[in-house]
Amino acid sequence: MSSRSFQQEIVAVLGQPVAENPTQYMMEQAFAHHGLRWRYLTLEVSPDDLGDAIRGMRAMGFRGGNCTIPHKVAVLEHLDRLSEEAALMGAVNTIVRQGDELVGETTDGKGFVRSLRTVTEPEGKRAVIFGAGGAARAISVELAMAGIAELRIVNRTPKRGQELADLVAQRLKIPVEFVAWEGDYDVPPQTDVLVNATSIGLFPNVDQRVPVNLETLDPAMVVCDAIPNPPQTPFLREARQRGCTTLDGLGMLVQQGVIAFRLWTGVDPDPAVMHAALKEVFAS
Ligand code: NDP
Repeated sequence: MSSRSFQQEIVAVLGQPVAENPTQYMMEQAFAHHGLRWRYLTLEVSPDDLGDAIRGMRAMGFRGGNCTIPHKVAVLEHLDRLSEEAALMGAVNTIVRQGDELVGETTDGKGFVRSLRTVTEPEGKRAVIFGAGGAARAISVELAMAGIAELRIVNRTPKRGQELADLVAQRLKIPVEFVAWEGDYDVPPQTDVLVNATSIGLFPNVDQRVPVNLETLDPAMVVCDAIPNPPQTPFLREARQRGCTTLDGLGMLVQQGVIAFRLWTGVDPDPAVMHAALKEVFAS
């Protein structure tokens, strides 16, 4: 008689389309590295099936997972509770089972701030963010929570940009300015941290140019790109050539995964293992 257990703990990403999301590889490399008998599944789920998928997660005892486009907002109504940041943003990218409850979390912004802290502390700094979509929302809220002194949101669609600026200013009580993005943007000289949180330059549109006046970049600035694929965008290359410190989107992707991993398993994963997994994926 064997008493060996063949049961595994399951987490999964729900999205559509989702096949090219590399999180499964990153997480399973880390599970293996830490000797955890966990699996991470990549599941294509249509918006109409989201409620059933979440009920299925509950019924089958999944330990949680991630949700990505187009479910980050729609998933809220299917969860039992939200973290403070997820409630503030109205979006969830990580689901964590706590007892019988499924709790919505958001780890993108926290991942960005952790990654930023490897090159500079955000407290008291002045930041400019390009974009007002999901990534920009998450980054803005977490920067404000981390003590950034001033924020400027620059976005092509004024309504979206103004809404984000109002949210951060009203809820987190820091000075936030919105600027409509027209032509090449002149970065104000007092800027400490500049972030591209748009999808300009994301694979396969790798030659798409971020409309910015490169002459206004100063070597004292930290220039970041949220885009993980390719890790080295033309925007970052130009900034580096001008002497700026740069930060790629791979660090953010790894760090948001580190936070989720810890929430699910209680184990602090080795970020180097996850980073190496993603580098391997994006190099192939
Ligand atoms: P959204 O679709 O929610 O937002 C896209 C943003 O990009 C909007 O602000 C949009 O402006 C802007 N934008 C897109 N194309 C252009 C253009 N040609 N000119 C000006 N603005 C443009 O996407 P997300 O916020 O979810 O993702 C944004 C980026 O962040 C992606 O590249 C994604 O890969 C990355 N990301 C990285 C993560 C990481 O861990 N590294 C995590 C999550 C996202 P408008 O409002 O005018 O449409």
